[in-house]
Amino acid sequence: MSELIIKQITKDFGGLRALDKIDIDVHQGEVFGLIGTNGSGKSTLFNIITGFMAPTNGDIIYNGNSIVGMRPDQVVRERIGVVFQHNSIFPALTAKENIITSRHLKVNNDIFGSLFHTKKYREQHWVQEQKAMDLLKLVGIQEESDVFAKNLPHGSQRMLQIAMALAVGPKLLLLDEPATGMNPEEALNMMELIRSIQQMGLTIVIVEHNMRVIMGVCNKIAVLNTGTKIAEGKPKEVVLDEKVISTYLGRRKINA
Ligand code: ADP
Ligand code: MG
Repeated sequence: MSELIIKQITKDFGGLRALDKIDIDVHQGEVFGLIGTNGSGKSTLFNIITGFMAPTNGDIIYNGNSIVGMRPDQVVRERIGVVFQHNSIFPALTAKENIITSRHLKVNNDIFGSLFHTKKYREQHWVQEQKAMDLLKLVGIQEESDVFAKNLPHGSQRMLQIAMALAVGPKLLLLDEPATGMNPEEALNMMELIRSIQQMGLTIVIVEHNMRVIMGVCNKIAVLNTGTKIAEGKPKEVVLDEKVISTYLGRRKINA
C-alpha cells in the first residue's frame, strides 16, 4: 500500500527549476532512498514534504490525503518525523532534555504546566523522562543522556536528532543525510538503527551520500539529477543503470 505519493512535484526558485515533475511512490514499511549529486533537489523535496516550502506545482499525498499547504507543525501531527540535513539540536540542553523539549514543542504545548509545574505536568514529565531514556537507548546514546548536546560528538548529535524525530511518534521518518560526517563505525550503527526502526513498523525516506548505507538499508531508491528523476528501482538494479553510472556514480567512489 502507498503511504506517501509525491505527485508531479515542481519547484522553481526564480528562474531555476529545482524540481521538475517528480513522481515517487513510497510503500508502507519500506526504506526508500533518495540519491543524487549536490544541488539535485533532494533537500528541496524534503522541505516540500514537511511543509517548510510550497511547491510551484504538484501534490503530496500522505495516507490518501493531500498534505500540501499544511504548516510544518500540522505535518508533524500527521505523524511524520524529520531529521534535517543541518543540525537542529538545542546546544545548551542535555541529550535527554532535547528529546523532552522537542516533544513538548511539537506535540504537547502545555505552556501553563511547564511554567507552573502543576501535578499533571510533573507526572507527565516523569513519563516523558522514561520515554526519553528509552529513545536514547534505542539510538545507542543512553550513556550520554546528561551531556549537553553541544558537547556530544558529531555522530551522537545525529543520533540524538533521530531520537528527537522519533519522540513525536511518527509513522513516517524522513532522514536528510543522517550519516554525513560519521566515521565507519558510526555509519554501521546508523544502518543498524535504520533497520530496527523499520522493524518497529515505520516507513523511512532517506537521503544519503554514503552508498554503503544506501545499499545496506534501502528496499528501493530513486536517483535525482538537476531536479529530474533519472532512475528508480531496487538498489542493485539502479547501480547498474547506464544513466546513473554516467551522471552520478561515475563521479564518486563506490564502496558498496
Ligand atoms: P540537494 O539537497 O540535492 O543538494 P537542494 O534541494 O538543496 O539540493 O538544492 C536544489 C537546487 O535548488 C540548488 O540549485 C539550490 O541552489 C537551489 N535552492 C535550494 N534552496 C533554495 C532557496 N531557498 N532559494 C533559492 N534556491 C534554492
Ligand atoms: Mg541537501
